[in-house]
Amino acid sequence: ENLIDIRGVTHAYKTKHGALPVLDNLDIQVPQGEFCAVVGPSGCGKSTLTRLVAGLMKPDQGEVWLHGEKVTSPRKTVGMAFQNPVMLEWRSIIDNVILPLEIVAPSMSKAEKYARAEHLLEMVGLKGFSNKRPSELSGGMRQRASLCRAIVHKPDVLIMDEPFGALDNFTREDLWQTMRDLRAAEPFTAVLITHDLRESVFLGDQVIVLSGRPAHTQYVLDVDLPAD
Ligand code: ADP
Ligand code: ADP
Repeated sequence: ENLIDIRGVTHAYKTKHGALPVLDNLDIQVPQGEFCAVVGPSGCGKSTLTRLVAGLMKPDQGEVWLHGEKVTSPRKTVGMAFQNPVMLEWRSIIDNVILPLEIVAPSMSKAEKYARAEHLLEMVGLKGFSNKRPSELSGGMRQRASLCRAIVHKPDVLIMDEPFGALDNFTREDLWQTMRDLRAAEPFTAVLITHDLRESVFLGDQVIVLSGRPAHTQYVLDVDLPAD
């Protein structure tokens, strides 16, 4: 079953200089549990695509389906991570991680929320940092915490828009491995937006290359890597 089904999506922004066509007739299918990496030059419409999948915008033409339902409004079952994670400085790391649970699972007990968050923080190598403030952590560590926050409520889909873009090469490659570990432990379906081809191949089961203006699918790679 395709968890994400993007059918013939075409979109243009209306600007004061007229319409700016951004996406041209995109078709993207992501089976349940798969990791889809979308690569393309900056400005080609990758962020626009994430907004459409999250239901934050509607396409001019075409449809976005998630889990057999047409997306027409923002989804709680989508987790998002960005290049510069927004963390609430007055809350500890663990209190930032449990935020989505406070919104989508108000009836969950405090103990359960903390146990879930603590488990994820441990998995990404942040054992012992739960009670720090966001500014006490390095950029890489904050990004690890933001990945925990993005999946703490077990969303159907994790959407990541250049999550490792602001990190140095060593930290970035560490995080690639962390991402693989998380996936082995938590079966989620993911869309990763990146302009790093190596990253897309390391993490993606499927790599979709967008290019052109408006952006269209240039090619699709099926990645088959040995299990690690
Ligand atoms: P990418 O994520 O690949 O860098 P975006 O989806 O952010 O690309 O943007 C694609 C194009 O659409 C860019 O030319 C950008 O300037 C333009 N754009 C993005 N958002 C808007 C908006 N809200 N209004 C008008 N133009 C926009
Ligand atoms: P990352 O590779 O995740 O960006 P750094 O390279 O900045 O992290 O940090 C390397 C190590 O330094 C971390 O794994 C951690 O053990 C330690 N460290 C970083 N920030 C703190 C902190 N605020 N308190 C304690 N130890 C820290």
